[in-house]
Amino acid sequence: SVCAPLPVLGRDVLVPLVTGGEVDYAALDYAASAPTLQRVWDDVAAYAPYYGSVHRGAGYLSQLSTDLFENSRRTIAEFLGCGTEDQVVFTRSTTDSLNLLAAVLPQDTRVFVFETEHHASLLPWEQRADVAVTYLNAPRTPQQAVDTLEKALAEREPYGPALVCVTGASNVTGELWPVRELAAAAHAHGARIVLDAAQLAPHHPVDITELDVDWVAFSGHKLYAPFGAGVLAGRADWLQAAAPYLAGGGASRKVSRRTDGGVDVEWHTTAARHEAGSPNVIGAYAIASACRALTEAGFDGLVAREQELITRVREGLAEVPEVNVLSLFGDDAARVGVLSFVVEGWNSSHFAAALSAEYGIGVRDGLFCAHPLVRTLLGSEPQEPGECGAPEAAPGERSLNAIRVSLGVGTPDEHVDRFLRAVK
Ligand code: PMP
Repeated sequence: SVCAPLPVLGRDVLVPLVTGGEVDYAALDYAASAPTLQRVWDDVAAYAPYYGSVHRGAGYLSQLSTDLFENSRRTIAEFLGCGTEDQVVFTRSTTDSLNLLAAVLPQDTRVFVFETEHHASLLPWEQRADVAVTYLNAPRTPQQAVDTLEKALAEREPYGPALVCVTGASNVTGELWPVRELAAAAHAHGARIVLDAAQLAPHHPVDITELDVDWVAFSGHKLYAPFGAGVLAGRADWLQAAAPYLAGGGASRKVSRRTDGGVDVEWHTTAARHEAGSPNVIGAYAIASACRALTEAGFDGLVAREQELITRVREGLAEVPEVNVLSLFGDDAARVGVLSFVVEGWNSSHFAAALSAEYGIGVRDGLFCAHPLVRTLLGSEPQEPGECGAPEAAPGERSLNAIRVSLGVGTPDEHVDRFLRAVK
């Protein structure tokens, strides 16, 4: 019944499409994919009849789509506080954005990354055989994160091109990382920094200039827009100097046969260089629509509301002695509306399944594509749950995986109340 058609809830700017309605399902898994805003859906529906392929000709639909695509790029650049020289490249997702950045790193770049990162920001770098990756141990305070990075950077000097990759908000604990301080440390040692803003951008303003990061990566589907699109925004030089991420039409400006029989290619130096093929114009337009909606609504109100809700979740869970909330930075850590926990004596997957089946509550269970982090947080070797085949943790034993609750725009009080009632 969860898959029954859900009625649209009204036309306010920030009404998520699938919250509430006929099927009273409490979607508390925003960190995996946030519900689409009604406003985004409306914008896409208004444009859909005029959909055409971008950059492909003088036809009206193609021209209109090209305009919307390029305007979307400008809207997103503004949303992120990009400078005039920065580029906004459309990708499929955060994962794709970070793999793109890995692909364009200058030769022999040294990368620094905390072991606590999501696999999307942990793993792309070693795909490059010439890139040396320094994995940094999990810090237990934000200050320790800065000190650890500072020390690692200093110890390995001198080096050529260097990159630090860090998440803005953890997809497991929801905890905020000291991005500005990490960026300052990186720059002080001549390194650049990319911010994985997959979990930060939906909950906080992300200003590339103010945070002083070199690139930002995020996904549309976590920012209240669906359609398989993401963004890598930031400094143009490495992007322009590298070979195109994908070779093909759209990325090439001029292709000609050489007299020796080969082919010469002049590649674009704009974002189009890394966007070969027919781009996902609806995805780009949906992200821009979400950016406009969030800007109009104002982050101050969104952050305040979300903090109120996540504080209630935390306080409610604190009343249940069997519940342990997972935290890297301690009880006082600032976090977005994301929180993970384990319940003594319960396999987390069974617990999450019970929340869904018995209470209509959707949460995430597992290791959240951040195995080293979850291992640190659980203090044990985690096991990917074979769904119902995973062993129960006996009372007093540590859980093997965790449960994550996450919320955001449109989460009603009732969903939090129901969740806490169900856990209790
Ligand atoms: N980074 C973080 C912090 C994430 O939470 C996620 C998604 N769980 C990703 C990267 C990857 O995003 P996507 O799956 O959209 O590529």
